[in-house]
Amino acid sequence: MKINNNYLNLKDSYLFSKIAKRVSEYKAQNPDKEVIRLGIGDVTLPLVPAVIEAMNKAVDEMGNADTFKGYGEEQGYSFLREAICEYYTQKGVTLSSDEIFISDGAKSDLGNILDIFDNDNTVLIPDPVYPVYVDTNIMAGRKIVFIKGTVENSFLPLPDENTAGDIVYICSPNNPTGAVYSKSQLKLWIDWAIKNNAVILFDSAYEAFIQDTSLPTSIYQIEGAKQCAIEFCSLSKTAGFTGVRCGYTVVPKELVRSDVPLNKLWLRRQTTKFNGVSYIVQRGAQAVFTEKGLGQIRENIEYYLENARIISETLTDLGIWFTGGKNSPYIWLKCPNNMSSWEFFDYLLEDYGIVGTPGSGFGEQGEGFFRLTAFGNRINIHKAMERLRKLSI
Ligand code: PLP
Repeated sequence: MKINNNYLNLKDSYLFSKIAKRVSEYKAQNPDKEVIRLGIGDVTLPLVPAVIEAMNKAVDEMGNADTFKGYGEEQGYSFLREAICEYYTQKGVTLSSDEIFISDGAKSDLGNILDIFDNDNTVLIPDPVYPVYVDTNIMAGRKIVFIKGTVENSFLPLPDENTAGDIVYICSPNNPTGAVYSKSQLKLWIDWAIKNNAVILFDSAYEAFIQDTSLPTSIYQIEGAKQCAIEFCSLSKTAGFTGVRCGYTVVPKELVRSDVPLNKLWLRRQTTKFNGVSYIVQRGAQAVFTEKGLGQIRENIEYYLENARIISETLTDLGIWFTGGKNSPYIWLKCPNNMSSWEFFDYLLEDYGIVGTPGSGFGEQGEGFFRLTAFGNRINIHKAMERLRKLSI
């Protein structure tokens, strides 16, 4: 018996446990001081009424012999896939329902999709980025080449004549930087992928936060994308489903490599290793895409975006460099006075009782940067910003 030795190459992911430890130490030493968390990467507002209503109805159906459901349709119920197709139609993208696969969230599919690609592929991963892309490829022993996000490229790296790889991850709006690719920037990646026979794994988990209508909310809004891109999306941040679990992955039939449609491979993979998302959850997800549901989730998203605006305004007034904060729940700032990410973390916690996330936890290029999130409640955001305005550096 041999274990998968690639797992031994994973770095310990101690970012959030280290944060928790520092915060609890601080609280033990300062029991009277209130700590405000601006590092939360999870939603805080409850599910909207349309979703609750639909799920309650589905629970009742499950308790009745005439309407009870056992195993569901392989790719997800057609009522949900069709609702998602309609959502894409509103974005100007035409998809057929067999190009959509319902999942229990984007994280699983982003990891599982690697099953359909040979381990011998070279993978391009932006740095800094959502750590799941890196770790899932290390587990498979794939060669990883980092593409650097910097202040100069506004944390939106682009391909050039030397960019070589078979698979590239693009996350837009980005976690952790909040940066969003424009249509013309994504077109450069699409042209590069088609020319190099590569595949783009496009993570649009935060697409619902995009307000600026000139920015793409799906890669398929750009010509050529169906020939080279798989899109991953999730209801986690869109509709507060982090604890409910539902997402979807789009594998266009036009996407063919080695004469094989990737849609066919993914269908085979999913039907072999995955048995679907519960009927109750899929009914809740369907309700998100109704007029009522979309209106209700919009209110929640606007609430978070207003939090982001308040944080951004404070940073602007303080003269601190940042990206994101618009079209995204994340604000990515340059630590003042050339502090390291962890120095700034300690400074904010000890002097202001504010908790954020050190940028170095998202990749080497994140050193010297810091992530704040807009998922907290408004009162706390105001309180934290009042404290931050006193920043004496
Ligand atoms: N992609 C990005 C960029 C994320 O930040 C997250 C969650 O934080 C996910 C995917 C995973 O989302 P899900 O809850 O659908 O698994």
